[in-house]
Amino acid sequence: MHTSLFPTQSPITRADRQALLGQGAFAIWLYGLSGSGKTTIAYHLEQQLFHEKILVYCLDGDNIRNGLCRDLSFTQADRTENLRRVAEVVKLFLDAGILCIASFITPKESDRAMIKEILGSGNVIDVYLQCSLNTCAQRDVKQLYKMAQNNRILNFTGVSSLFEPPEQPSLVIDTEHESIEDCVNAVYRHCFHKG
Ligand code: ADP
Repeated sequence: MHTSLFPTQSPITRADRQALLGQGAFAIWLYGLSGSGKTTIAYHLEQQLFHEKILVYCLDGDNIRNGLCRDLSFTQADRTENLRRVAEVVKLFLDAGILCIASFITPKESDRAMIKEILGSGNVIDVYLQCSLNTCAQRDVKQLYKMAQNNRILNFTGVSSLFEPPEQPSLVIDTEHESIEDCVNAVYRHCFHKG
């Protein structure tokens, strides 16, 4: 830390804020290839939790890159910086007592380790959305695979940039063969110990 910085601590704690809201705060980090279903599952889950009166907020890759991280590219260093910033923002949300769903490709194990380090491993459930490159490329929701294959986008995960499958994910969801509803329910049950 810089020697001229003196971080302070509010007298109101995370526990105070959680008690006010009547909920525990933690992060659900959805990751996987582009088109694996991160945004879809994140927003379905967010709606379900919101209707249960849980204060929840989704942080989604494209939205963050449109604002907070608009200065960053897709080089490895900038991807790491993007995720570091997001993890720090998630940490603030948790401190505010708000449940967070983060949906980011998060292609590298070292970055996943960094996220756990920033948040504390007890504060985050990492969920790998497993879907083959073939199926993601066929879905091609944003026509990005087509552009990457024509070299119109560089450093595109799965095509010109590596995705490292996780070694020890908390949860793996098969978004290739399961329905959206079943996938959302599986994440929900795992995170809230239900069913
Ligand atoms: P990502 O955010 O990972 O890039 P999106 O959520 O934008 O992916 O797109 C995933 C696409 O796959 C959507 O069109 C969605 O309807 C479709 N899809 C099909 N089956 C599933 C599933 N089981 N889970 C999530 N998305 C699915």
